Amino acid sequence: MSFNLNIKRIRSEVLQDGAQLPDLPTDTSGERSVIGHLDADAFFASVQQAADPRLRGKAMAVGGRQRGIVASASYEARKLGIYTPMPMAHALRLCPDLIVVPGDFARFEQFSRLMFSFVYDYTPKVEICSIDEGYFDLGGNHEVDPAEALAAIQRNIAERLKITVSQGLGPNKIISQIASKLRKPRGLICVQPHEVRGFLDPLPLKHMHGLGPVAQKRLADHNLHTFKDLAEAGTEQLHAAFGGGGESWQALARGIDPRPVISSHGPAKSYGHQETFGHDSADEEFLRNHLRRLVDKAVERLREDGMAARTYHVRVRYKDMSETERSQSVDEPGDLPEDFYTLAEALMKKAWQKRMPLRLIAFRLTNLYKALPPADLFEQPNRERREALQNVLTEIRARYGRQALMRGHDVGMEAARRP
Ligand SMILES: [Mg+2]
Repeated sequence: MSFNLNIKRIRSEVLQDGAQLPDLPTDTSGERSVIGHLDADAFFASVQQAADPRLRGKAMAVGGRQRGIVASASYEARKLGIYTPMPMAHALRLCPDLIVVPGDFARFEQFSRLMFSFVYDYTPKVEICSIDEGYFDLGGNHEVDPAEALAAIQRNIAERLKITVSQGLGPNKIISQIASKLRKPRGLICVQPHEVRGFLDPLPLKHMHGLGPVAQKRLADHNLHTFKDLAEAGTEQLHAAFGGGGESWQALARGIDPRPVISSHGPAKSYGHQETFGHDSADEEFLRNHLRRLVDKAVERLREDGMAARTYHVRVRYKDMSETERSQSVDEPGDLPEDFYTLAEALMKKAWQKRMPLRLIAFRLTNLYKALPPADLFEQPNRERREALQNVLTEIRARYGRQALMRGHDVGMEAARRP
């Protein structure tokens, strides 16, 4: 099957709607735009099944140690009504024979690297978004038909790693991302440019990445239920539904998405912050408060994107401008500042090797996972309270500014600032 892409054709089709459109993703090199999205099926559970043949074909779940919830359920378990993030106690009542194994995140990362290595066989342009999801741009590969490349990637991963993936192929990110999720497991959907509107139009808006339940409800209140509704909405309806703006969402609903694939080569995708002090410092309390604020900021952005991270890095710069960096991984990915405060402090002490005041501290989180959505009921009430607190903090700060609500170390920082 050949996969001919014709950007001009989509443009003319979409332009018939007569609205203003953002620029289409035209590569400066004049290459066609062919983007794949890969999403592993029940990744944690599948990897544990691949690693231990006794688990294969069984109803099993990977359970978080920190939270008593199902982090990932095998397809055999899903058939019995087990889903993520169901409380584990509930899952066991539903299915007393359910095999529960803890997550092995070092193993997950190894499988992830291997899995993406099969994608690199076809293109160097691979954007790894999380442990089990990524985009890749096949526009520059003229040797293989893109749809055949995807089929081969899927086959190779299944044969060599004993896990399955679903994939989507389309002229841009939004199309390929939606296509990869529609027919799991082992899905493979290729959308040609002339099929874009026919593919998107009937889909309910829950398939739009980034539109949460609250936004969906709001759009439904304005009679926007499907991609077609949003694609064809008039300016007034659009602005009313989104509270002003909404044009970029409308473009996405029309299948227009200019975001390029950004290769994950070089430094790994990370969430980090660094700050140079106004003066060199060797004051442990000052440095600790400072570090905690960096953790807060990094975690805030991590949470905004719905991610969790397993590896944390601390870099210190000395008075003489030399630097040391240390990194470490936690057993399970975290998405709360408390997951990293004390660990980051210990790591800073390790990194601070020279007996010399510091000029800068940097903190960064890598090894990204999609955060587990909150369960209906947490087995660990402490974590639930911290989650709730974190959400309130974020909301209040968004509304009234960072000073409105401060943690102990923020107060310490403010006090240190006063003369
Ligand atoms: Mg997945």
